[in-house]
Amino acid sequence: MAKKNKQFVEKVTAMEDDFAQWYTDVVKQADLVDYGPVRGSMIIRPEGYAIWENIRDILDAKIKETGHENMYFPLFIPESMLQKEKDHIEGFAPEVAWVTHGGDEALQERLVVRPTSEVLFAEHYAKIIHSYRDLPKLYNQWSNVVRWEKTTRPFLRSLEFLWQEGHTCHATEEDAAKETRQMLDVYASVFEDYMAIPVLKGKKTEKEKFAGASYTLTIESLMHDGKALQAGTSHHLGTGFAEAFDIRFSNEAGELQPVHQTSWGFTTRSIGAMIMVHGDNCGLVVPPKIAAKQVMIVPVAQHKEGVLDKAYQLKEQLGSIARVDIDASDKMPGWKFNEYEMKGVPIRLEIGPKDIEKGQAVLVRRDTGEKLFTPIDELETAIPELLEDIQRSLFEKAMKHREEKTSVATTMEEFKNSLEQNPGFIKAMWCGDQQCEDQIKEETTATSRCIPFEQEKVADTCVCCQKQAKELVYWAKAY
Ligand SMILES: [Zn+2]
Repeated sequence: MAKKNKQFVEKVTAMEDDFAQWYTDVVKQADLVDYGPVRGSMIIRPEGYAIWENIRDILDAKIKETGHENMYFPLFIPESMLQKEKDHIEGFAPEVAWVTHGGDEALQERLVVRPTSEVLFAEHYAKIIHSYRDLPKLYNQWSNVVRWEKTTRPFLRSLEFLWQEGHTCHATEEDAAKETRQMLDVYASVFEDYMAIPVLKGKKTEKEKFAGASYTLTIESLMHDGKALQAGTSHHLGTGFAEAFDIRFSNEAGELQPVHQTSWGFTTRSIGAMIMVHGDNCGLVVPPKIAAKQVMIVPVAQHKEGVLDKAYQLKEQLGSIARVDIDASDKMPGWKFNEYEMKGVPIRLEIGPKDIEKGQAVLVRRDTGEKLFTPIDELETAIPELLEDIQRSLFEKAMKHREEKTSVATTMEEFKNSLEQNPGFIKAMWCGDQQCEDQIKEETTATSRCIPFEQEKVADTCVCCQKQAKELVYWAKAY
């Protein structure tokens, strides 16, 4: 059995040796995805899709609680419609997929497979919004989008991914600003309170903002290898799309005015973040609140009389307090232990003849490996407490990691040294000039991640040009 276990673990490259390979191995071994027939596309397997469904349900409830309604738009966009907003098309043109034929016939006008749906919503809003009484309009859609990426990785960057995109219209600039911030806070809550991933909230620089937006708000998270990942964005679109698509309303004074818009998106990329923040060399570690299965019962010596009966009885009994499953297959317990460690199930519950004799079960935490011998009649209180504790310690561990991996730099030399010696976030002052941003990227490959809402002054001068600094920026190499 020992030999078998070893082989199983060897399928995953150690993260210290090659983090990218570790990620690919875990995604595959935990059975989250398979590769699709077209390069860069992915098949999301049940184990992966169940996690997405949990995240989606949590976020969908919050979207509805904040007054939004779900709807659905078509997949294709006529080329001429995408051309209407110039910055937008320029931003997306390099990565759109085109449809040129319907059956055997060449189309009169090429179609785009949606890379995002701003223009579809805009065209629709122009039709349905006339008066201030029609505002605000708060719509959201859950869908797939296609972006023809050159380099791809499952969840992180794939040709097609799943997401939600919210698109709203407001009477005033301030209302749109409030909405933009509200939805960023919703995203931050999903990451922090459910996925146990701490995020930095802030604003993107002009260079990094969404194509066609007035400004973009972002939440940024730090992965285990010290690289940042943009976890979700919320855009204030201003009146750009409203002008281009003629979305106007008459205000109370009867004057015709363009609406102020927002859009915001949250994608299956979040699963990539979960893997890279919590995972270890034994595989996935899934936070209890989004785990498909929270407790996996593994009967030990299940051929012995009474073991399976007891195991099924526990599944029944605990089913109302947690998402519980049982593996009663004839595979060896050691194989099962590894399997559910790989899949990141938060708690393993072992039950064998000796345990039954003692009236106990063995609870094993996925995050720490700690074994807890627990009386059977205390399981109903012990399990929810343990799940909560795992959830909390995953967040704390991730927060500690981020703090350890955050450095301050006041000169380019410090900047480069930090990136080399302790890769992670770098806090440095910036003059606000894009030239410095470009130069930092060129010299270090780090990009500006966000201008945090919580500003600090770590120096008086720009880390790059040493002129008067305007604001603090978080920088990092990023996915
Ligand atoms: Zn500068």
